[in-house]
Amino acid sequence: MSREKQFHEALYGLRYNYPNSVTTWGHCCTEGCPNGARGSGKCGTCFENEMAEIIGDEVTAMNIHEAIKDQSRAIAEALELAEELDFEQSEGVG
Ligand SMILES: [Zn+2]
Repeated sequence: MSREKQFHEALYGLRYNYPNSVTTWGHCCTEGCPNGARGSGKCGTCFENEMAEIIGDEVTAMNIHEAIKDQSRAIAEALELAEELDFEQSEGVG
């Protein structure tokens, strides 16, 4: 697999581990890794390590992982806010 393809797979894998909807979790499939992972695939940390190896830069890989976590948290907060605002109730249904 080309490095570019590996990079995109690792990036996709990172993002996949921070969904904003109900999903299934299991143990990370990497041997010896204690983390949970979406769909029992690879966890965010393992994808971060993979990305660090692909780009040869641990700090950048960590920053990408952190940014994805931040984005997921911000979306979760926005969805919570939408629930609190209870749009349907205030606008009337229909
Ligand atoms: Zn893992």
